[in-house]
Amino acid sequence: MPGAQSRRWRIVSIVGARPQFIKAFPFSRAVRAHPALEEVLVHTGQHFDANMSDIFFRELGIAPPHHAFDIHGGSHAAMTGRMLTAIEEVLVAEMPDAVVVYGDTNSTLAGALAAAKLHIPVVHIEAGLRSFNRRMPEEINRVVADHVSTLLLCPTRLAVENLAAEGITRGVHNPGDLMFDATLLATVLAEKHARILATLNLSPGHYALATVHRAENTDDPAQLAKVVAYLKAEAEKQPVVLPLHPRTQHALAAAGLDTRGLIVIDPVGYLDMSQLLHHAARVFTDSGGLQKEAYFHRVPCVTLRGETEWVETISHGWNRLWTDPGYAPRKDIREYGDGHAAEAMAEIIVAYLSRA
Ligand code: UDP
Repeated sequence: MPGAQSRRWRIVSIVGARPQFIKAFPFSRAVRAHPALEEVLVHTGQHFDANMSDIFFRELGIAPPHHAFDIHGGSHAAMTGRMLTAIEEVLVAEMPDAVVVYGDTNSTLAGALAAAKLHIPVVHIEAGLRSFNRRMPEEINRVVADHVSTLLLCPTRLAVENLAAEGITRGVHNPGDLMFDATLLATVLAEKHARILATLNLSPGHYALATVHRAENTDDPAQLAKVVAYLKAEAEKQPVVLPLHPRTQHALAAAGLDTRGLIVIDPVGYLDMSQLLHHAARVFTDSGGLQKEAYFHRVPCVTLRGETEWVETISHGWNRLWTDPGYAPRKDIREYGDGHAAEAMAEIIVAYLSRA
């Protein structure tokens, strides 16, 4: 294309949920620093509370979204349908060269589908993850997003293999894991700004950190009761801090479950989370991101689920399912990149667009 050398490619990035703000933190930085790229950020509104959304933009220096919607609640179909319509309008107006979606939420699915139907190349960050559990809404979202994507940016070799097993080999890259970039950047900021340990009067190495928010744990009161009982039993050994996801807060109230014995706090920003993680003796979680972050901070993790997408954390002894009797022998995990996945992703996108 004439003038391609000097051209700036416009990408629209779609975020909506907490883990996507955290992934946008290193990625948007790398895009801003790249002379051949410009980014238009769209926030669907899937997560909207100040401590689930605004705090991440503010603390992590993410530019305010160019287009912000207020789409949350309702059934999966209703939410995704409204997002599809809203995102399509943005894409028709912005005419981007590519659309970037992250992870596995309804915002990911809507962004990927809206772009693919308009013949705009879709870049899926965190492609190729599989739990092989189609009852998880996230699994449906990531499978569909992968199958309509043009560039599939995988965090691990296994993710590349998962895609190959589904016949997807074109446009597949393994630039590393943005969450590792985010962890490295946040650790530096947290050292300066985070105060949560002092605020909660916790001693480094003498408490555990827990999070619970997956539908499989929150939507079934009997399952939620089991999780709470498990955490309470752990709290008899050491303090357990539980930053409570709004979905879980509602589910606990609806199920009439109490959290006596746990240190329950509101969701925290990423810098406080980084400090809490760094000094924890153990992590208990059903979050995908947190299982890896526990490894990045070299804290052993217990996953409160029946399976995980991050199987290398299990095989290398840093993570176990709560039903497993113990950990595998501990080894370093040679995956997730070098902490510069974001820059590598920006280069992959520019190389693709320059050739297309
Ligand atoms: N997180 C946070 N504050 C909290 C709880 C979690 O910043 O109070 C971060 C956590 O460190 C991880 C991300 O949010 O990076 C995980 O998000 P979530 O559990 O909502 O989603 P998942 O990882 O399961 O996709």
